[in-house]
Amino acid sequence: MEVKDFKEVVEEKKEFLDQSFRDSVATINNQGSRNYIFPKKPKGRFYNLRTIASLIYLIVFFTLPFVKIDGEPLFLFNVVERKFIFFGQIFWPQDFFIFAIGFLTFMVFIIFFTVVFGRVFCGWACPQTIFMEMVFRRIEYWLDGDASEQRKLKEMQWNAYKIRKRATKVVVFYFISFIIANFFLAYVIGMDDVLAMVKQGIAANPVTFVSLLVFSAVFFFVYYWFREQVCIVVCPYGRLQGVLLDKKSIVVAYDYVRGEPRGKIKKEKGPLPENGDCIDCAACVRVCPTGIDIRNGTQLECVNCTACIDACNAIMDNIGRDRGLIRYESEENIAHSKKTRFNWRIAAYSFVLLLLTTALAVMLLTRDDVDARVVRTAGQMFQTLPDGRIGNLYNIKLVNKTRKEVPVRMQLENIKGDIEIVQKNMTVPKESYFQTSFFVKINRQLIEKRKTPIVLGVYQGDKKIETIKTTFLGPGL
Ligand code: SF4
Ligand code: SF4
Repeated sequence: MEVKDFKEVVEEKKEFLDQSFRDSVATINNQGSRNYIFPKKPKGRFYNLRTIASLIYLIVFFTLPFVKIDGEPLFLFNVVERKFIFFGQIFWPQDFFIFAIGFLTFMVFIIFFTVVFGRVFCGWACPQTIFMEMVFRRIEYWLDGDASEQRKLKEMQWNAYKIRKRATKVVVFYFISFIIANFFLAYVIGMDDVLAMVKQGIAANPVTFVSLLVFSAVFFFVYYWFREQVCIVVCPYGRLQGVLLDKKSIVVAYDYVRGEPRGKIKKEKGPLPENGDCIDCAACVRVCPTGIDIRNGTQLECVNCTACIDACNAIMDNIGRDRGLIRYESEENIAHSKKTRFNWRIAAYSFVLLLLTTALAVMLLTRDDVDARVVRTAGQMFQTLPDGRIGNLYNIKLVNKTRKEVPVRMQLENIKGDIEIVQKNMTVPKESYFQTSFFVKINRQLIEKRKTPIVLGVYQGDKKIETIKTTFLGPGL
């Protein structure tokens, strides 16, 4: 079989594709105002899988703030007090470089992941999609019915029925938004503090309460009205798709080679033999929460929610055609009528993604629990001690990132001498700092230069927790 060039196939099929969609965004009507989308409730294999994935996601989201290690939360992002906890490990401003590397790794991860797997994240893991499609939209279907009933309700004159419906939805949506805002707050200040505030009451915490109401109102606004506009207009990741995706990226895609020319089904004859598999039923358009027609090709609005896959598969089952007219596929494979298989590109990118994740995990797990910084005391040179030895005065600052007190000791590693600490007991309090001064005393004969490099070992019991290199000043020879 002759394998055509990608461009050739697109050119050949282009005549069937209506290009007018490029003139406007589906959520803006001809008058320039918001075209409110009423997507039909999806059903099918992908929707069921996404429901299971979302349930796990939501259970994890609402459970994590209650999980503690040694009395501290598993995750905390306390920007105000600059205290961050990941997987039970406390991070301090001193760990900024880990944040920076972690952030860079995350960005590279996102780019690589998107290049290979498209917007899988949007459909399956983004909190916006999960809360919108799997929480609020489901409640909306339950309260207001499916798309046609919702449309009818919108067009209906205001009456007691509509007021009751709208009021119920506002109350339920705001209540859930309030709960979500509380849990987000728990990720910032910890669940213990949130529960303590709840016990103390509103009068004791008016500022927090008002902030919560404002955040709840923002969530309410997003899920009640703004909806898919977050993905289309606000989300930077969504807007980056144009540069991140290429024709080999796996996305939710319509197989135009198989589907075109589309044509209505004839009741008695079924699909006409001269037509492609698409029967132009628009079922895929009706379920789309961003209001697009995936048959126009990959579009910025598509959040890869898979609703159109399920809708089209159901139609294909009905007309006795193979499933997968809309499927996870790359543009290139569609042009060449191929199916995605595990290939070298996927393997190579996955390997790099694994390496990045492992590097970050190793960095996090091998991070020092205690940081020590030594500087020679300002304005001090060396002293000749009464016993003839040379002495240098240093300052040490220790940071304990653990939840336990850490008693430490120091010793010289590369030269014979003594360390005399001003404060005899060197115990670093938990999650805190400790600072003291100390003398290093070394025999005059061992100091041959004006600056002698010395190595100090900081020990917790027998375990060396830090090695510090500094210089020791002497008179020289
Ligand atoms: S085109 Fe399909 S996958 Fe994309 S947002 Fe619409 S329904 Fe979801
Ligand atoms: S659901 Fe399938 S058959 Fe119907 S219009 Fe969409 S692509 Fe064509």
